[in-house]
This record gives sequence, structure tokens and C-alpha cells, in this order.
Amino acid sequence: MEKRFQIGNREFVLDQAKAEEAYAAKRVINGRQTMTFNLLPLKYQWAYELYRNMKANHWEPEDIPMAKDIEQWRGNDLSDVERWIIRMGIGYFSAAEGIVGDNIQHVVRELVTAPELKLVLGRHAHEENIHADSLLYMISSLGINPHECEAMFEDVPTILRKNEFVSRVSRELRRDMDLSQAREKQALARNIFVFGQCMEGTQFYGLFGMILSLYRQNKFPGIGQMFRYTLRDESNHIELLRNLLVELIRENPDVWTDEFQQELVNLMKEAVQLEKEFINDCLPVNAVGLSGEEFAEYIDYIADRRLENVGLPLLNEGVKNPFPWLAEMMDIKKEQNFFEGRVTEYQKASSLEMVSDDEL
Ligand code: FE
Ligand code: MN
Repeated sequence: MEKRFQIGNREFVLDQAKAEEAYAAKRVINGRQTMTFNLLPLKYQWAYELYRNMKANHWEPEDIPMAKDIEQWRGNDLSDVERWIIRMGIGYFSAAEGIVGDNIQHVVRELVTAPELKLVLGRHAHEENIHADSLLYMISSLGINPHECEAMFEDVPTILRKNEFVSRVSRELRRDMDLSQAREKQALARNIFVFGQCMEGTQFYGLFGMILSLYRQNKFPGIGQMFRYTLRDESNHIELLRNLLVELIRENPDVWTDEFQQELVNLMKEAVQLEKEFINDCLPVNAVGLSGEEFAEYIDYIADRRLENVGLPLLNEGVKNPFPWLAEMMDIKKEQNFFEGRVTEYQKASSLEMVSDDEL
């Protein structure tokens, strides 16, 4: 017997018995290991749709003009603090993007088994490469010494601690894992939570907020725009790792013990603490016209949204977003005229009309 599948504007005909067998063998972990990349029949429809959305958001750093940024950087109207924020942003993310991409490629993508999950994780890793490349473009445009940026990651204690926080949950997974054991499954779930919700989801937001505050004052329009594209990508990464965690738990309820849930909440608490220490230590919040207290509240607010999204208890029930303008600026889908120039051309019409809930 044959069955028709409609995916976007494409149609496929599969043998029903074979399709059912392939579908049943698809799992987040411990599914069928295939050498060939058999995407059909899709089981994790969201993963394929997200992959298409991520591709539709494609951008190239060099398409964003840096002339104004260069003029400002060389001119006399900037304060030392403003230059420091830019150096800090470039320095921190230069290393952080690499750490995330490496973990996605060598830990998460290695351990999941369903092909459509590998597909979207491959795109995730690729986007981290684009982000790393955009930072090179900023470094070369402004003529910043790259070693200064590297040194920040090695010499600033509050950055070192943020780094250690994420790398400790990544290192332990770089060996043969026995994913039939609940403890090892939890190690993977912890990794997915820490990278998606704590790091990309919360600890990136201190510097994002600072750079967008400058952007709002018409400082560094090119850099600001690149960070906005980056943020749009990050919101897809957060969503991807959130969905992955939820599916992993659904298929492996033994992972989701009370102790484990409490452990994840504690990890988020630690992530927030580290981010606030980093902000106090490195980010002159007042200099861009924000209050330190509100900035801390903003981090609390973001962290609670991440916990909420994966069904965990909140750390600061009722906390409000003190910077609604920042949320507006981060949500670039709302803007009509944001896509200017060549970037628009990456938006392939076919990518925008994904519809299909066809399942076996
Ligand atoms: Fe990134
Ligand atoms: Mn990311």
C-alpha cells in the first residue's frame, strides 16, 4: 500500500509498511542509527520546519555596511566606555559562538539519532559559524587587535567562570555514552538545558542588551544590525533546544525526576548569578543610560521565561520586563522595513509557506 506525504509544496509517495517501520525506529536518542540520511517519513515535523525557517533567515555579514561604525570608531565623539562595550561584546562572543557550535556539532548532534534532528542541528552549528564570521568582519572593519579579544576570555575572571559553567557540562559527554542509563540520559538533558536555556537563552542577554542600547542611540548601526540578526538566530536556537529537551523527556520519562528538575533550576540560578557578576564587573550599565538594578531585573525576567518554557518552576515569580523597548528591538519580525538591501534576496518565497501536519 502507498501513502502520500505533503511537505511544503512537495509531494512524496511512500510504501506504507516501510514508512511505518522507519517512523517507529525514529527516536531522539537510542533510535535506529542510519548511515544514510533518511528524512522521510518525518516524525519531528517541528525540526524540519525550524530548519526551513532558519535557512529563510540566512544573512551574510559583509552585506551589512560598516562605514558609519568605522567613522564613529575613528572619530572623537565616542566615550572610552562605549568603545569598551564594543570590545567586550566582540571579545566575549568570539569565543562563546565557537563553544556553542562545537557543543552542538560534537555532543548533541552526535548523540541524537533521528535524521531531521541532525539536519536542524547541522544548521544550528552553521549559524554559529556565521556569527563567528560576523565578529571577524567587525574586528577587521574597526581594526581591533584580535589578541586583545582573546585575552578578555582568558583574563577576565567573571568571563572565565561563565565559560567553566558551560564547558563542564560539555566535556563529560565527549566519550562513549551508554544512553540506556538514566544518569547518562540526564547528562545529555542537562547539556541541552544549560546550552539552550542558560547560555544562549540567558547569559547572552547582558551583552545583547548593552549593544542594542548603543544601537538605540544610533551608535554602531552596522554592529547593532548584525547583533539583531544574531539574536533572531539565537531565538531559533533556544526554541530548537527547548523542543529537543521536551521530546527527550517525553520519550524518556525516567530522566525527569524531581531531583533532576531541581538540579536544572539550581543550574539556572547559578547562570543568573554568574551573569549578574559579569555585568557588575564588566558592563558599565549606567554609561548607556540604564540602571543597574533594572538590568539585573531584566536578567531575572529572561531566565524565568526560559524556565517557564520547559515547564520548570520560576525563580522570581511576577518579575516584569523593565526594558520593553529591548523586547521590541529584539523581535525583528515585527518590523516592516528592517530587511533592506541584498539580505531580502535570501528570503526564498518557498521557505515561507511551510505547511504540513501529515503524520502516519
Ligand atoms: Fe550564536
Ligand atoms: Mn546560538
